[in-house]
Amino acid sequence: MKRLFLMMLLGICLLAAVLVTRAVGFSSRQVTPEAAAPFSVDADAAAVRLAGALRLKTLAASEGRPAEDAAFAALHDYLREHFPRVHAELRREPQGAHSVLYTWPGTDASLRPVLLMGHLDVVPVEPGTEGTWTRPPFSGDIADGYVWGRGALDDKGSVLAILEAVEALLAAGHRPKRTVLFAFGADEEVGGLGAEAMAKLLRERGVTLESVLDEGGMMLTGTVPGVKAPVAVVGVAEKGMVSVELVAEGEGGHSSMPPRQTAVGVLSRAVSRLEEEPMPAELRGGSRALFDFVGPEMPFGMRLVFANLWLFEPLVVRQLAARPSTNAAVRTTTAATMFEGSVKDNVLPARARAVVNFRTLPGDTVQGVLEHVRRVVDDPRVKVGTLGFISEASPVSRTDTEAWSVLQRSIRQVFPETLVAPYLMVGATDARHFAGLSDSVYRFMPLHLEREDLARLHGRDERVSIQGYAKAVRFYAQYLRNATH
Ligand SMILES: [Zn+2]
Repeated sequence: MKRLFLMMLLGICLLAAVLVTRAVGFSSRQVTPEAAAPFSVDADAAAVRLAGALRLKTLAASEGRPAEDAAFAALHDYLREHFPRVHAELRREPQGAHSVLYTWPGTDASLRPVLLMGHLDVVPVEPGTEGTWTRPPFSGDIADGYVWGRGALDDKGSVLAILEAVEALLAAGHRPKRTVLFAFGADEEVGGLGAEAMAKLLRERGVTLESVLDEGGMMLTGTVPGVKAPVAVVGVAEKGMVSVELVAEGEGGHSSMPPRQTAVGVLSRAVSRLEEEPMPAELRGGSRALFDFVGPEMPFGMRLVFANLWLFEPLVVRQLAARPSTNAAVRTTTAATMFEGSVKDNVLPARARAVVNFRTLPGDTVQGVLEHVRRVVDDPRVKVGTLGFISEASPVSRTDTEAWSVLQRSIRQVFPETLVAPYLMVGATDARHFAGLSDSVYRFMPLHLEREDLARLHGRDERVSIQGYAKAVRFYAQYLRNATH
């Protein structure tokens, strides 16, 4: 008995030793780069140029509403007028309806080009909420240290900041060794046909890319437990999406003499089964990489956990799965969104229909979701199909490439107080179309947001601070320097 006890004690000590050793050896993945090259931005002039672009109501076509063609044409004129060097020295190729591809030729044609992306379209302002904005949504007002307007963050801010950086680098005589491409879509918010066409064009030209940088993660404070510093999260993957349509048929007729179960009942059971048995949660697809990068920066207790995921992974996954926002990062999510039955209260449904929207984790596929649905529903009366727009989850970009290191260094040069970490994006970006052209597709915007600012994206009072915007310009200039020499 005593011997057994001693053995157990020894085992516990050994385990503790392993855990602590790993936690101590869980070393930081953050880099300390040399200082950024000097670069001055006239913050006020840049803010004025951004404000002018925000006044143009560039809405893409959507459900019965045509695209605001005149606004897009005006925006292209505006860019020509305000970024003359860009338009004199870069090749400009209009693509489809209002999208545009620029090429800044490098001096060494043997190097693979880098691609920077952004989109010119903005989401509409929800009707009836215009009056609740502090400044009118398309005013482009400059007040209280901010530039106000739809698109300030998503995503004209990125496009204009990139152009500011290129214009300034051209003025300073910078000649890139590596070719730089700029792909600005005009319909990202409604599916990204422009970006898709530009990716196709590059594929036809036989181009492979060193890296892609699109909108995506930002710099946030207080979102990673135990980490006080702002964290710049860089999307290394994005989830896919499929809506599964479930249809059950019934007899119809009057509801006075109903069968024991109607088509609505059949479907209710199917939907309830799907909610009860979601697809499995797992730390992968970019979410594990996040903890590899932020784990070493956490207090010791948490570091111990993340340094020993071989043991604690089930515990961590269970914690993450408990909240909707983090659950979305560890599994293919299930969201029953639509349900239709009979058109009248006293008529039996001849047909009932439900739609369940799945957002797939990288590694899971649309085919896999359909198999999951059929297995879990397990009812021959329920027909399973797909509905509308389908996209597979993206591949997970690498974080051991030179391209990653260039991005990581650039962020730390301009925002030295910021930690850099990869993560999985739950929303879609235009970058997904370029997945086949590069193994280093990153989604990041060089803006620091407070938690309350997140609601401004697609919400009311979208704005960017003048100083924050100037720093974004500085970031793009530094990134372009690092990536092209
Ligand atoms: Zn966007």
